[in-house]
Formats: sequence, structure tokens, C-alpha cells
Amino acid sequence: MKFCKICGRQFVPSKYRPFQGACNDIVCQRERQRQNIKDWRLKNPDYFKYAAGTDPTYRDMIRQKHREWRKSHPSRLQEYRLRYKEKTREYMREYMKKYRLKKKNIALPDSEITKKETI
Ligand SMILES: [Zn+2]
Repeated sequence: MKFCKICGRQFVPSKYRPFQGACNDIVCQRERQRQNIKDWRLKNPDYFKYAAGTDPTYRDMIRQKHREWRKSHPSRLQEYRLRYKEKTREYMREYMKKYRLKKKNIALPDSEITKKETI
């Protein structure tokens, strides 16, 4: 018999985990998991830091890695482009439609746009 480190109640540890510190109650197990994650995050403070947006040397390193990956897998990008050829074309068609419309609206003053729309 042991005492749960979270709720303090007595429990029998699993025979597979003799050093079990928390009882089987779902609340205690969640709390134990939360504490483990918290401890791990404290021990590894930089693990989830994504510095690409702020650190230019890190960003360059990532770019270099991507470049190297593309060099070592030359066919992958070609395969990808081939596989999504139609999707890319459709996307570019829509994009250019929007782009032209935007360009047209900027070039024309407001009164002319409404005139054209009514025709
Ligand atoms: Zn407990």
C-alpha cells in the first residue's frame, strides 16, 4: 500500500509499475500527467521555441536545411508538382482573376467602377 502524492489516499501500486506515485483515479492521473509535462517543459525550455520569425541566423539555417533536402531529393519536388499540377493551375487561375480585378479597381476611380458594373 502507498499514499497517492496528489490526493493522499491509499492505493495499491500496479505490479508493472512498483514506483507508481499517483492512484488510478482519473483526476489524479490527469494531474500527474500535467505535472510531468510541466517538469519536462521546465527542463527543456527551448524545445518548442520557433525562432524563425525573429532570429535571422536561425531562419538562414532552416533555409539552408531545406535547400539541402531539395538537393538530396531531386525527384520529390517534380513528383509533387506533377501530382498537383491541376490544383496549382486552378489556384493560379483564381489568384490571377482576383489580382486583375484588384488592379482594375485601383486603376479606375470609384464612379467609373459603378458605371461599368451597371452596364
Ligand atoms: Zn490520488
